[in-house]
Amino acid sequence: MRTPKDDKPIASLSVDLDNQWSYMKTHGDRGWDSFPSYLDLVVPRILGLLEELDLTVTFFIVGQDAAMRKNEAAMRLIAAAGHEIGNHSFHHDPWIHLYTERAVEDELTLAEEHIERVTGQRPVGYRAPGYSLSNATLRALQRRGYLYDASTLPTFIGPLARAYYFVNARLSDEEKNQRKALFGSLSDGFRPIRPYRWQIEDDAGDDGLIEIPVTTMPFLRLPFHFSYIEHIASISPFLALTYFTGALDLCLITRIGPSLLLHPLDFLGGDDVDALAFFPAMGLPSEAKIRVVREALISLANRYRVTTVKGHALNTIQSSGADRFQNPFAP
Ligand SMILES: [Zn+2]
Repeated sequence: MRTPKDDKPIASLSVDLDNQWSYMKTHGDRGWDSFPSYLDLVVPRILGLLEELDLTVTFFIVGQDAAMRKNEAAMRLIAAAGHEIGNHSFHHDPWIHLYTERAVEDELTLAEEHIERVTGQRPVGYRAPGYSLSNATLRALQRRGYLYDASTLPTFIGPLARAYYFVNARLSDEEKNQRKALFGSLSDGFRPIRPYRWQIEDDAGDDGLIEIPVTTMPFLRLPFHFSYIEHIASISPFLALTYFTGALDLCLITRIGPSLLLHPLDFLGGDDVDALAFFPAMGLPSEAKIRVVREALISLANRYRVTTVKGHALNTIQSSGADRFQNPFAP
């Protein structure tokens, strides 16, 4: 028997499990290489809210975190709650698009090994750190049998976000050069916001890698995932939720199943992690941030059947056979 829940269109939700050290590393802060971790604090918070709302989602995990004993308990909690585990690289270098194909493959393999050892799941999905995707990465993912990539953020505001970031970071010219593609380029805004299948050179069949873009607002291409909502919420929670539900309604009208992402910082306030006070919206206490995330997730689940990114990719194949799309990175 079909329930009303089955009649809703599909959406996916993921968590990029970026740890304290990876933010410090990208920001050029000293002390990141002792790998400070807030996973013990934040993972139970995230899992608690997901359980309360009965949501099963995808956690993109950084291999370096899976490799460390101090994070094992948090990793196991995620797997035990039945969530999908995806690969978020090993070193979380947002300049991974500069890596050779061999180096990317080493990153993927090392992360897979540690993630599988700790969680019992071998990832079939990947999200690049900082949305830094390359042709080499796509080829390596295809060769390693991945089902999907979820590393594109089709927005025009990447350069703006990067400029804001540089103003607030203490980076040398060399470090800035390394990070010059952070948050993407203007042309990213012209990429599709619907799922599609990559056209990778030596792939002749119809089993190529599926792309599940992080959804941005139809037409305007403004991001509306939770970090942006929290940013607006630091001005007005009402405005933030109005913006979010407005974006969801635009997706409904244009028949786009959104794929949205959460970050640990959506669950942490400046009261929790002093070292990350430079981040936008860290002035809000954690309870205020979690309240906004809860309301936004309820709006999402009222309109859509929320699933994992893997579920979204499989649904795309079944329902339409994802359109082919020319790989913009191909030489
Ligand atoms: Zn990340």
